[in-house]
Amino acid sequence: MSKDIYPSYPPTLTEERKKFILETVRDWSIARGLAVRPPPSFVDPKHDPTGVLATSAPVTLFPSLFPRSAFNEATSIQKAYNELYAAITMDKGWLQEIVSEIAGIDEFVGQLWSVHEAVAKEGYAQELNLGMFRSDYMIHVEKGKPGLKQVEFNTIASSFGGLSSQVSSLHKHLLASHAYPDEITGAVTAESLPPNPSISGLASGLAAAHREYTAKSNRPTCVLFVVQDPERNIFDQRLIEYALLEEAKVPSFRLPFAETLKHTRLESDRSLTYTPPHSPEKTYEVSVVYYRAGYAPTDYEWPEAWEARLYLERSSAIKCPSILTHLAGCKKVQQVLATPGSSHLQNFIKDTLELQRVRETFAPIYPFDDSATGTKARELALNPKTAAHYVLKPQREGGGNNIYRKAIPDFLKSIPETQWPAYILMEMIEPPPQRNTIMRNGDVEEGGVICEIGVYGVCLWRIASGEQKGGEILHSANAGYLLRTKGDQSEEGGVAAGFGAMDSCSLV
Ligand code: ADP
Ligand code: MG
Ligand code: MG
Repeated sequence: MSKDIYPSYPPTLTEERKKFILETVRDWSIARGLAVRPPPSFVDPKHDPTGVLATSAPVTLFPSLFPRSAFNEATSIQKAYNELYAAITMDKGWLQEIVSEIAGIDEFVGQLWSVHEAVAKEGYAQELNLGMFRSDYMIHVEKGKPGLKQVEFNTIASSFGGLSSQVSSLHKHLLASHAYPDEITGAVTAESLPPNPSISGLASGLAAAHREYTAKSNRPTCVLFVVQDPERNIFDQRLIEYALLEEAKVPSFRLPFAETLKHTRLESDRSLTYTPPHSPEKTYEVSVVYYRAGYAPTDYEWPEAWEARLYLERSSAIKCPSILTHLAGCKKVQQVLATPGSSHLQNFIKDTLELQRVRETFAPIYPFDDSATGTKARELALNPKTAAHYVLKPQREGGGNNIYRKAIPDFLKSIPETQWPAYILMEMIEPPPQRNTIMRNGDVEEGGVICEIGVYGVCLWRIASGEQKGGEILHSANAGYLLRTKGDQSEEGGVAAGFGAMDSCSLV
């Protein structure tokens, strides 16, 4: 696509210009928090005993070209996606049916579901739910026209909303400061670089939930970021924390998940209180528990981990996400929604045009069950020739968990067949090739790249407690976007996992 329209994008740089751009990126990224803590292999702890060092996040030197029509479609259907996933959590029976197909095989999903059951038995103390979602897509060209295919929908710890605003600003700065050669103007202009308010969009989602909660409380309140420790992607989270304080005047604190029971209390009225260890004379009532941890089984490798998750879920703090919202993000849910000819999607989306537009974004996904498609999935996955066009996904988040292409048959044969239904088989989306230059840990890689766009959405809704089904949406909005770019030889695209780089779109 763009390769044909802009065959020489990005432009070739003289050595002097490349040096100038690299210096600009290196300094701008630290000055504006487009940064990460360095990988352990990068710095000898002897030289950084207190962990003060930071380094530039991996970024592309140029914004990647992205079809304007696909960008507009991805952003304009986000509200429908917000409301779809909210509606899924309002239909506990439907979610239970899907989860029950995997809960017995996948221990992690089983444990999450039993947390929901335990809270439901006692009765949920909070009907409000906050979603800070990210719907990820790649470009798929059909009949010469670029369209969107969804890679996945994230309902927990959707990351990079902090850094993505910053990388958009970095590319705007490079353009405005004439760092790029003049011939770039055919492909990149101030007008072609869209605004990206992901930081304030996500902060205002937290603020909206906080306001709803505090309307009914007369104690000092705070938002609690429940986090992994250590966290290399800390600035991504800090940027949201700072915007929350500066723009909405909402205080927040970071609490490592493993220290939950030590510093919080579930009061007799089921409110959650937090006493910061640095300020033990103060106690806050927690308005929102914002999970940036708790999505990976490794987050639960401490004795009281499940007790802590249950404790937080039992509280009357608004959870982002609640356990049901977390479970709605299972890849199995995505597969069921994408089943051709099924009525699942139309039970959740009433507007026929919206339904059609959301359905258009689905790529073929197969279950490993007893149905005819299940049989087809086994055939496709076990034959190395056909498997080469697929990715096998377990019910996991955070990158690094999938099995790609030719590795699928041997992997499946290495595990008992009874475990196969915990996976889904998805057709690989093959976006058109592009070129870009990535700067990672100071090194520069040039070559073919693949882009994945993510659109953020925030949603606040009520789930009718005590009933199987029902609820209402209170607030639903877009919250900027993320573009991640990886070398075209890499299957995974995670920036934190070390495969991808932060990028922004130049709309063409
Ligand atoms: P996770 O929840 O761990 O991020 P994803 O489903 O997003 O899992 O898969 C991780 C990465 O694998 C994606 O960022 C993308 O680069 C690649 N990937 C996943 N599914 C597809 C697909 N259908 N086509 C092409 N690439 C894919
Ligand atoms: Mg992903
Ligand atoms: Mg994910």
